[in-house]
Amino acid sequence: MKVYLDHAATTYVSGEVLEYMLPYFNKTYGNPNSLHSFGREARKVVDISRAAVASALNCKDSEIYFTSGGTESDNWALRGAAYANLKKGNHIITTKIEHHAVLSCCKALEKEGFNITYLDVNSEGLVELDTLKNAITDKTTLISVMFANNEMGAIQPIKEVGKFCKEKGIVFHTDAVQAIGAEDIDIVDMNIDLLSLSAHKFYGPKGIGALYIRNGLKIDKLIYGGAQERNMRGGTTNTPLIAGLGKAIETAVLNREKNNEKIRKLRDYLIKRIESEIPYSVFNGHRAQRLSNNANFSFEFIEGESILISMDLKGIALSSGSACTSGSLEPSHVLLALGVPMATAHGSIRFSLGIENTKEEIDYTVDNLKSIIENLRKMSPLFKSERGEVKKV
Ligand code: PLP
Repeated sequence: MKVYLDHAATTYVSGEVLEYMLPYFNKTYGNPNSLHSFGREARKVVDISRAAVASALNCKDSEIYFTSGGTESDNWALRGAAYANLKKGNHIITTKIEHHAVLSCCKALEKEGFNITYLDVNSEGLVELDTLKNAITDKTTLISVMFANNEMGAIQPIKEVGKFCKEKGIVFHTDAVQAIGAEDIDIVDMNIDLLSLSAHKFYGPKGIGALYIRNGLKIDKLIYGGAQERNMRGGTTNTPLIAGLGKAIETAVLNREKNNEKIRKLRDYLIKRIESEIPYSVFNGHRAQRLSNNANFSFEFIEGESILISMDLKGIALSSGSACTSGSLEPSHVLLALGVPMATAHGSIRFSLGIENTKEEIDYTVDNLKSIIENLRKMSPLFKSERGEVKKV
């Protein structure tokens, strides 16, 4: 059996989306910025997709800018807003649990002279408003708090943060890459100024995303080139991928409740089985305020990577952290920020479910997980020491 439980890393392109995209590779292939009929035909689908993204977020079409994905959107939002507001101040606030697309960009901005505060989160992975309030200074121009975390799924109090930023006149960016399609997002109600999204997390293609920029917001360009995207983001418009993004977001919004309900049920079944059948499993992140497809566990006394490799041999795809950090032996920066001890963080696994997963797949996963963990613990000196089977030195 092959089981894919790594949808937070990426999803497949749905059949419906793929079929919708195909004609834009070789039939309607004109440059959407050309004035002739080939160009005008291609322009139509770009406009339709922009409208689909805007409708999903409750904003205007003119506030959506297509990019190459979440990483570019995050970089553009942060660098663009930081530099556009440099005369007002050079202090930026973000959190310790952001994706590397935000954290690495902040590290670069620090080298360029910006001051960055990385907020702590509580033990359930949530940013507390008081912590945020205490961090602002008269030089704070930008606050970036992710909508939902990619590793342990916690959903942040975005509406409260947005309200606070609006009152203070501070630009508010949210990385909503994991939340789009899964959560109900209303840009206006949540007072969001900048929002990043990426199609490959909701059954759209990789390499395409968007940045929402509130009309009238001051932001510098990230990419210089032609006059595409209303002269804000150069580069020949990627019609097939934009078509795929539009179709994928429309479908995700349409089926959101139905999909969430199905996925949440399966995810809760997975959690229940793990907690009742696998000893020394620690559940990470907020129990309720989390993405419906995410479960994150630390299995004490063993390495997440060892579990991952053994599960892979059984055909089960999981992750031991964010896709970008797995493969390195560093424990997850997200779990460390929650206060999970280093050794426990090393034994962490993320399960991220998708619309096609079944109960049989979850049973197959837990059955294998149980025996793999049992075997790994038999070889673990830490486990033997815990059970008094070896003398502590
Ligand atoms: N932000 C978050 C929260 C993510 O999970 C990811 C991808 O894993 C990204 C940003 C980067 O998006 P992309 O892969 O489209 O560059």
